[in-house]
Amino acid sequence: MARYEDFLKPTPAGLYCPPGDFYVDPTRPVDRAVITHGHADHARAGHGKVLATRETLAVMEARYGEDYAAATQTLAYRDGVDINGVSVSLVPAGHVLGSAQAVLRWNGKTMVVSGDYKRRRDPTCPSFEPVACDVFISEATFGLPVFRHPPDTDEIAKLLKSVAQFPERTHLVGAYALGKAQRLICLLREAGYDKTIFVHGALEKINALYESFGVDLGPLSPATVGKKQDFAGAIVVAPPSATQDRWSRRFADPVVCFASGWMRVRARARQGGVELPLILSDHADWDELTLTASELAPDELWVTHGAEEALLRWAELNGRKARALSLMGYDDDEGED
Ligand SMILES: [Zn+2]
Ligand SMILES: [Zn+2]
Repeated sequence: MARYEDFLKPTPAGLYCPPGDFYVDPTRPVDRAVITHGHADHARAGHGKVLATRETLAVMEARYGEDYAAATQTLAYRDGVDINGVSVSLVPAGHVLGSAQAVLRWNGKTMVVSGDYKRRRDPTCPSFEPVACDVFISEATFGLPVFRHPPDTDEIAKLLKSVAQFPERTHLVGAYALGKAQRLICLLREAGYDKTIFVHGALEKINALYESFGVDLGPLSPATVGKKQDFAGAIVVAPPSATQDRWSRRFADPVVCFASGWMRVRARARQGGVELPLILSDHADWDELTLTASELAPDELWVTHGAEEALLRWAELNGRKARALSLMGYDDDEGED
């Protein structure tokens, strides 16, 4: 029987499938790539052929322009395609719009490259679907027991409470441009917030793309026009970096908020000058990571980007075979997730 590494193996350019002669989320330009989702550390420009969901291809085009790859191929969720004898399908990962697990089948074995994922409901994308497999490749961005994300409704309630308490101040929420910003806006809508939400220009393209795929974000307006007092009592969503720079000075006495899984770490919120930390992540927390590994019970668990050690130790204590892939080039920093 072939070893799993004959099927899929870590290389300097990323995970490579020798029989299929393709990479999954390569970090360098390659001839053939399967892309799990549109975040910049997974979806890079300059590949030959790219296979991904329609949504992910649209994100890549929006970010890199239409020449981002020599050729592209769309694969709908759960459809299958054969690449040199390897069956490839894409199954929802619940991470951001279009995000997928790459399910690879060859020689009677199934390997699942989950990309980034979470197990919670997200109004902007279909939920993670568990697929029985021999090898499950898991991220470990929040792979430490200290990371337990609270319910998203609690965090949204915190934000809305503060908005009600400080009607003269602008709530300036830092949120990553792809995924987090749109999820935050949808969650505010679900909580009954129906006022105009102001957005930084860097979010406009991706917001429009989400809407074109049927994600309703409600009334939005650019945060670039208007006077200070126009934004009093308003919610403004911007990329995290913009909440710290000159751009933020246009707002009246802003309450700086940051929506990220890292806000669990108080020191990190303090360092970033965040007055109202919101613990909202598009990555699995410790419980979701271990629950997924237990539920799938793969023959081997392969762990990549993030805190690998704790998950390996957990696997050992639970009698599961696991290894760290130590792939380079992926953000362990929740990059823009
Ligand atoms: Zn991601
Ligand atoms: Zn990632």
